[in-house]
Amino acid sequence: MQSTLYFYGAAGMVTGSNFLLDTGTSKLLVDCGLMQGMGEERNWEPFVYEPKEISHLIVTHAHIDHIGRIPLLVKKGFKGKIISTKATMALAEPLLLDAMEIVAHAAEKGGRGELYNARDIAEAMGLWSGIGYGEEVALPDGVSLTLLDAGHILGSAMVRLSRQGRSIVCTGDLGGGNSPLLPPTHEVADATYVVMEGTYGDKVRPEDSQRREELENVIEETIARGGTLLIPAFSTERTQDLMYEIRTLMVEKRVPSVPVFVDSPLAQKITRAFVAHPEYFTPEIRTRVEAGEDIFGFPELRFVENAEESRRVHETAGPKIILAGSGMSSGGRVIGHERKLLPDPKSTLLIVGYQAAGTIGRRLIEGARTLTLYKEHIPVRAKIETLYGYSAHRDSEGLLEFVNKTASTAEEVFVVHAEPAAAAFLAQRIRDYLSVKATVPQAGDKIVLQF
Ligand SMILES: [Zn+2]
Repeated sequence: MQSTLYFYGAAGMVTGSNFLLDTGTSKLLVDCGLMQGMGEERNWEPFVYEPKEISHLIVTHAHIDHIGRIPLLVKKGFKGKIISTKATMALAEPLLLDAMEIVAHAAEKGGRGELYNARDIAEAMGLWSGIGYGEEVALPDGVSLTLLDAGHILGSAMVRLSRQGRSIVCTGDLGGGNSPLLPPTHEVADATYVVMEGTYGDKVRPEDSQRREELENVIEETIARGGTLLIPAFSTERTQDLMYEIRTLMVEKRVPSVPVFVDSPLAQKITRAFVAHPEYFTPEIRTRVEAGEDIFGFPELRFVENAEESRRVHETAGPKIILAGSGMSSGGRVIGHERKLLPDPKSTLLIVGYQAAGTIGRRLIEGARTLTLYKEHIPVRAKIETLYGYSAHRDSEGLLEFVNKTASTAEEVFVVHAEPAAAAFLAQRIRDYLSVKATVPQAGDKIVLQF
């Protein structure tokens, strides 16, 4: 049996995940993500395949670079089935609605038309069904589908397609085993082909088993100075991880009780979706949630509802903690807080995740002494701290370890979802250390698989 795998997005780049598998008489897609950052205008280009010919779209997880073009696919005639985990389905709707507004804003600036609207999103949700990890679903042409826990964000999955004893595993994004809420990534030992993410293919992260203690120290020091701790955080997973950690520290009285503001309406919606799906947490957390414990709620926590309230956060006297998006300070409510707090030597800005080149977050890590925010020069006097222990991605070692588990059956690994240098480095390591064939497909490549 032969199939053809087409690499349409996230090949030779990080965003816009999109793969097509032609199994003979039917076509299925894995992910249909938005291209973000450079090359954004390509989201408006037509699909290179005919959307109405696709029978199934399988979604790895709810990040927008994996789902952001789904409403467009539907608008352009896709009438098939969309399958993901139940949690991914629950997260997808608020994330798509949020992305729609950001995209509309960018479209207006770039003089482009509407990409899709809320009706298209509703239509996409109507085609969507959620399944559990490990559940087997029959697809056309004798292919069977199983979703395996990727440990990246709530509900994230690897897609395993099997036929006649052979399998293709698309990893989506792979978690680093760092979330306090999620179980570790499922170990795959029998893949024939692996389509594998390589975001951190050339980075090795130091072990960070002390991260909760480090967070505790940063909170304590900032409070002792009488300052505010500002943490730019992504709305999905990172914010919930941190809410859970801060709650734990406060409940256990390891840090003083101070107000904690979560300034992101999206994060509030996402948190509700998390609580509605306790089956995706670690067994311990799940038991606690099912017993009625509010793992994200504590007396000091307040969700900020609107922009006016966001400004008023600073009227609260004394030390406090603020979590706000975006995670790389590339926009959003966090900018207003940075403008207020960066000049204050008593305050701390804590960076907890990867900061892309060119973002404000990156410039702060690199030691910028002044920044221009809303056309205003802002001196940076606040303490800038970093804590990478909550990263949602595997590093180069972790990725290699993942392939090692299936090295005896893997005939080829395709490294995608990475900058070219990271992908090339990881592919080389897989070849050298594991003696497994590893290549870096380019966007538009097609490969015939014995599947
Ligand atoms: Zn992701």
